[in-house]
Amino acid sequence: MISALGTATALSNLLAQGATTSLELVTTYLDRIRSLNPSFNAIVCCDEGRAVEQARAADQLRMEANKRGESVPPWLGIPIILKDIICTRGVPTTCGSRSLSRFIPPYDATVVQKLASAGLIPLAKSNLDEFAMGGSTETSIFGSTRNPWDTGRTAGGSSGGSAAAVAANFAPVALGTDTGGSIRQPASFCGICGLKPTYGRVSRYGLIAFASSLDQIGPMAHTVEDLAMLLSIISGHDPRDSTSIDQPEVSARLAVPSCPQEIRVGIVREHLDHQGLHPETRSAVEAAMDVFRTAGAQIVSISLPHARYSIPAYYIIAPSEASSNLSRYDGVRFGHRASLTQTETIGSSLIDMYCRTRSEGFGAEVKRRIMLGTYALSSGYYDAYYLQALKVRRKIREDYDRAFEQVDVLLGPTTPGPAFLLGEKLNDPVQMYLEDLFTVGANLGGLPAISIPYRTTSEGLPLGLQFQAAPMQEERLLQIAHWFHQLVDYRPKTI
Ligand code: GLN
Repeated sequence: MISALGTATALSNLLAQGATTSLELVTTYLDRIRSLNPSFNAIVCCDEGRAVEQARAADQLRMEANKRGESVPPWLGIPIILKDIICTRGVPTTCGSRSLSRFIPPYDATVVQKLASAGLIPLAKSNLDEFAMGGSTETSIFGSTRNPWDTGRTAGGSSGGSAAAVAANFAPVALGTDTGGSIRQPASFCGICGLKPTYGRVSRYGLIAFASSLDQIGPMAHTVEDLAMLLSIISGHDPRDSTSIDQPEVSARLAVPSCPQEIRVGIVREHLDHQGLHPETRSAVEAAMDVFRTAGAQIVSISLPHARYSIPAYYIIAPSEASSNLSRYDGVRFGHRASLTQTETIGSSLIDMYCRTRSEGFGAEVKRRIMLGTYALSSGYYDAYYLQALKVRRKIREDYDRAFEQVDVLLGPTTPGPAFLLGEKLNDPVQMYLEDLFTVGANLGGLPAISIPYRTTSEGLPLGLQFQAAPMQEERLLQIAHWFHQLVDYRPKTI
């Protein structure tokens, strides 16, 4: 029996040595999901038959290639978990919403095709906040995901299912999506690594849209090394996504150790001095600064004067785009449709059908966003809200451009504090939105940002650190985060 606690890189080495098979890995992980998922509710759908069949095919391919002395893709036969907002052909893709509870995509997202060409095996789909709107994975029709470190707490969101699944070792790696922090915040809460790539780095074809100018798919894993490899597999230009950047894939190689004396690390004053920052999170950031300082890196104090407007700007732009994107779920073209009895149908209009359909199909948070967004985009308010938010967004990006003239990365907290209790913020949307204080900037600026686990609090909860870099600088970002992560004596949860 193979230890299911390996990183994907370690497991791929075992596969290459013939010390395990893909079938053994897949069955081990499926057993874990079967026995442990009821405690965490991280997985919403599992196609066991297909995964086993693909594992057998991967083992066969490897055996034949070995006989011929040919090489195989390095991650051939490695299992992966996908957030249930990424389209998978023939496998339900629900977005955690009643409106899509019966949607079975007829096609695969580009990332899913890329994973398949690299030989990875999708094991399961993971839980999320409805349409990825939220920070706690509590608004899903499947119920809340629980944090493997403390099941009374949230795993974060909206990619809470993917984060909890990696933390609980249901697979070595997963994909999440990040519109305002949904990869980094759950990664931080669950003690794993997560990366939001530069906007346009990874194709959004087949990713069900929440806020199209902000959404990005990204990797979640135990190590920065695995993030880099997974990013190299899923990145690259895609003609089917008009916002995809025409650049080759990111390199997976982190081998060149960065010389710490050459690293310039910026500390954002507005973040470190923020009153909402948990004292243990602040001291973790300060301790990380010391690690860099001791290694000879240059520490620079940076001001992002418009950072304080990032939450208000985000919560105008994201709901505006969401209200437009979600208009397609009208029960006619897409999504759940209300069934009216014959008596109800008599005298009712098309509008009645739309109202009933959308009232039943969406939960409270999604409705709140649709209303906010429709308001911000409506004539008479458009200039005051939406256009103004776009101007603020430009200022935020300019702040970052100035910062990255002086430093390679910005170091700071991922979240204001550790994982909060289930239910704690569910009925207080503003408190929930404030969770995104330190993450939405990277989405508004389109830049890459990573969260890596660093410490545990006195209560034993994981705390993440965030590194951000200039657009397209993933390789440098990963290299610095990798260098740092290797120095940190941090142990993943064993379950
Ligand atoms: N918490 C943020 C929101 O609710 C971010 C969500 C996300 O990144 N998908 O909008």
